[in-house]
Amino acid sequence: MIEKISQMNKLTAEESKVIESGGTERPFSGEYEDFYVPGTFICRRCNSPLYSSKAKFDAGCGWPAFDDEFPNSIKWLADSDGSRTEIRCANCDAHLGHVFEGEKMTEKNTRHCVNSLSIKFVAEGDELPEVFKQ
Ligand SMILES: [Zn+2]
Repeated sequence: MIEKISQMNKLTAEESKVIESGGTERPFSGEYEDFYVPGTFICRRCNSPLYSSKAKFDAGCGWPAFDDEFPNSIKWLADSDGSRTEIRCANCDAHLGHVFEGEKMTEKNTRHCVNSLSIKFVAEGDELPEVFKQ
């Protein structure tokens, strides 16, 4: 079991607070909030690909927003607050943020509101790092 933990990316205290304790970074503070470059967003803890930059849009909410995910990459769970839907990495269970439907912001009518601290950007053409399979 100790092996399992060592096989994931090391997290800073700030990242751990979001990813492992379900925290939320301050709005408009994240490195990917206003960031539009072609590539792929992967899980910061296990490297699993989560979102294409093509799905990213400006929701004006202060966090990175996506209207689509890679198939089977993300778990949707009822949040403990009783109203929202929490999203987590399907591979390592890292907390990503929340997902909202029916806001009509994009054609897909879905907004993944994601903490920059939960994801990492890999530019188009760069090799994706190996995923730490769980
Ligand atoms: Zn992950």
